Amino acid sequence: MVSTALTHGEYHQLSEHLGRVVAPNPGPMTGAGTNTYVIAKDWQRGPVTLVDPGPAIAEHIDRLLDLFGNRLVRILVTHTHSDHSPAAARLVAETGATLIGATPAADAAYQDELFKADQELRDHERLDCDGVSVRAIHTPGHVNNHFCFLLEKDRILLTGDHLMNGSTVVIIPPAGVMKDYIESLRKLLDYDIHQLGPGHGELMDDPKAIVDWTIQHRLQREEKVIAKLGGMGPASLEELTPAVYDDVDSALHFMASMSLWAHLIKLETEGRARQNNEHWQLTP
Ligand SMILES: [Zn+2]
Repeated sequence: MVSTALTHGEYHQLSEHLGRVVAPNPGPMTGAGTNTYVIAKDWQRGPVTLVDPGPAIAEHIDRLLDLFGNRLVRILVTHTHSDHSPAAARLVAETGATLIGATPAADAAYQDELFKADQELRDHERLDCDGVSVRAIHTPGHVNNHFCFLLEKDRILLTGDHLMNGSTVVIIPPAGVMKDYIESLRKLLDYDIHQLGPGHGELMDDPKAIVDWTIQHRLQREEKVIAKLGGMGPASLEELTPAVYDDVDSALHFMASMSLWAHLIKLETEGRARQNNEHWQLTP
């Protein structure tokens, strides 16, 4: 296989029907940058579908238009965070491509407020991308309007931010729900998947092992939340975060505190924890 370095703006073919261009938005939450995936059957002349066009960065949008602008017919989005969907607006305006995704609730935080799907996704629906069969799988958790896309012949699952390569996904309540996240991980085990194509980072082999590990990692973190809550007594999110995430760089603690909040809400939903005046404790 050719080199698939995560270099901004370079196009890489990943499989028979899948390619990738990385957006120039590297960072602690985005790794090397957002992966914009490209789906086509006839790479020389045929119609092209993009998955996650990326952030509204002119350099990235210009590159996508140079490469595929005259053949772009369809844009899919896994979800509508600012690093995944905002480039769609200009691409649609310049090409007339059909925008397919799940429009976020009007009051949703941290979402692409301009996003409005031409076609709303339904769970398990099969999309015919000009001869490439793509299965849309609703995977709420990271956010409630998140979908993964399975290229059924290549057996590659485009995971958006449901699974990343090299870092743990942040769950930000209320649109992010930890209980849903873990259930959406288990849901992937029902599908025939050979590789994962994350929204950030390289393709990943052995999907089942990655999904199992990720579920275990979340449940172990939950056990640590319970242990620290038991030891500390009533504690605020700010007090709990450094205790529960003592293995994580403190520069990432604010984002970690969002996932901690999501864990606490899960425990509250299950009757195992409760809060009073923004202090959390275990249910006696
Ligand atoms: Zn996201």
